Amino acid sequence: MKFLTLFFPCVCPFCGAVIRDDQKCCKNCVKFTKITAHKQLLYEKYPTASLFRHDDVYRRAILKYKYHCQKQLYIPYSLMLQELIDEAFGDIKFDYYTSVPPHKRKKDNKFDQAGLLAKETARINKCKYVQFMEQVKDSKSQHHLHREERFVNVRGIYRVCDKRRSMLAGKNILLFDDVVTTGATLNECAQALMMQNANMVCCITVNW
Ligand SMILES: [Zn+2]
Repeated sequence: MKFLTLFFPCVCPFCGAVIRDDQKCCKNCVKFTKITAHKQLLYEKYPTASLFRHDDVYRRAILKYKYHCQKQLYIPYSLMLQELIDEAFGDIKFDYYTSVPPHKRKKDNKFDQAGLLAKETARINKCKYVQFMEQVKDSKSQHHLHREERFVNVRGIYRVCDKRRSMLAGKNILLFDDVVTTGATLNECAQALMMQNANMVCCITVNW
């Protein structure tokens, strides 16, 4: 049993029923976990796979994780992401998993939602998790911005930490985030990784 689950039992992402930490959801919600892997090529460069459309039950579930302190949802989500990796990227050997860094502005809420998903999935898949990036500039929340504004808003805000740069040359990286909308944030992070001569960056998210 994981430390966190002693205090906060695992719950079904879709209905909130208590589940075990080796379950993706409760038995009534199994119908929601059928993965129809959605793959897209972000900016014609970065293969990106997601579990669910950002709608209905899936939207409510990820918002509970992101904003409503149901941190323990990282456990069932990681089980689902691990299956998605097999399905979408089964032919790729990743050297590292990494994640979009948590927002700098969130002083009161240090919850690293993408990092938690990436770390747990790395643990399951016996891959190495490294946070390569840091946010160097502040940005507005992307939430209320239009597509074009989102690109401008995140331009140049991430970079690879100095001491991690030498680790990336020739490596295959899997980059995690919770939701991809326009892809501006993932694109910015992927570019920062490629600038340090990574061989390949693929992205994975819960919702798209
Ligand atoms: Zn359920």
